[in-house]
Amino acid sequence: MTDLAPFVTAESLTEAERVRILAKSALFSPPPPTLADGRRELVGMTREELVVELDAVGEKPFRAKQLWHWIYHQGVTDFAAMSSIARPLQQKLAERFVVGRPEAAVVQTSEDETRKFLFRFRDGQEAETVYIPDRQEDRGAVCISSQVGCTLSCRFCHTGTQTLVRNLGAAEIVGQFMAARDAYGEWPSPHGETPRLLSTIVLMGMGEPLYNYENVARAMRIIMDNEGIGLSRRRITLSTSGVVPMMDRAGTELGVNLAVSLHAVRDELRDEIVPLNRKYPIAELIAACRRYPGASNARRITFEYIMLRGVNDSEADARELVRLIAGIPAKVNLIPFNPWPGSAYQPSTRGAIDRFANIVMDAGFSAPVRTPRGRDILAACGQLRTDSRRERPAAQNPLP
Ligand code: SAH
Ligand code: SF4
Repeated sequence: MTDLAPFVTAESLTEAERVRILAKSALFSPPPPTLADGRRELVGMTREELVVELDAVGEKPFRAKQLWHWIYHQGVTDFAAMSSIARPLQQKLAERFVVGRPEAAVVQTSEDETRKFLFRFRDGQEAETVYIPDRQEDRGAVCISSQVGCTLSCRFCHTGTQTLVRNLGAAEIVGQFMAARDAYGEWPSPHGETPRLLSTIVLMGMGEPLYNYENVARAMRIIMDNEGIGLSRRRITLSTSGVVPMMDRAGTELGVNLAVSLHAVRDELRDEIVPLNRKYPIAELIAACRRYPGASNARRITFEYIMLRGVNDSEADARELVRLIAGIPAKVNLIPFNPWPGSAYQPSTRGAIDRFANIVMDAGFSAPVRTPRGRDILAACGQLRTDSRRERPAAQNPLP
């Protein structure tokens, strides 16, 4: 017998959900990019907006191209150092604009060289950024935050114990990467070559990037722009806990690599440890992965799977995992649980991890076990949290 229940197409659901998510995220908007003295922040503007800003002060569009080069290729923050611009114009720009950076309030370096930055933004809110150097080669990944706190409350995640304070603006997202580059003296951007130390970006810091999509997208477009930082979309990985309607959009519009925080293979358990699953259950999440644009063997989707002792690490779980992802160009990152003060779980034993990994590998997927980095400075996956708090409660309920 056919199911006669009213049928909602995936597309119509997606559109309605998209509108809802965008409306709610407006409640957590970052502060406007204008300083108290009226000067405008140039970082975070699109090229088109830069042209409009300059036009408003009587400057031609080619100035936008020049400025873009100084800001994003050379990494210059001081107009006086922009030598292709005449002094009177430098002064005029400095009166009206600023090229800012978040302030590094605390910088800690782990015994394994991982470095954690606590960045403070103009309104005093804070978020963490982590630089993870490659052990073998002169390159590394910058783990960037997309929100101060998180609306979701995954049971194993330290950030999830902090309610969402606000979304980060595009300037603050790009600014984390630029400030990390400042710290490593990585300017100017290499032209058409692989960048040096800070060679990849993972959107795996604090927050859910797909609940702050507009700002994240704008920031990634700036970072990918060839006349500036020029990082290829292949070097950027966006991690989501499974905001299904926004996954399609990220794939189509940005084309970055996708990482999905799966962590459980049965809805009953995933509902509990990744509460967003109650809204977008496993079957919908996996379907969104199957249709993720650009996924191929060369660009595989990463499934992140945190290994929680006695909770999700059985051989039956591993077999169900390979059944779920069969046919998807994918790899599985096994992340031993990183504890934080007050956390309720234990990392899986080495034996359980190995048995799990073998089942996944036998099914043809690569299944690296991620060695935790920067645990001693609480910089490892899921350990980030700041003391930022919201001054007044949100007018309405937070997401989801
Ligand atoms: N909100 C996004 C991105 C940030 S979390 C997401 O959830 O995907 C980045 C990764 O760290 C996710 O896979 C997350 O599940 C994982 N993680 C969170 N807490 C962890 C912990 N205590 N130990 C190990 N990994 C953790
Ligand atoms: Fe938020 Fe990701 Fe942490 Fe879940 S794992 S609480 S989605 S940051």
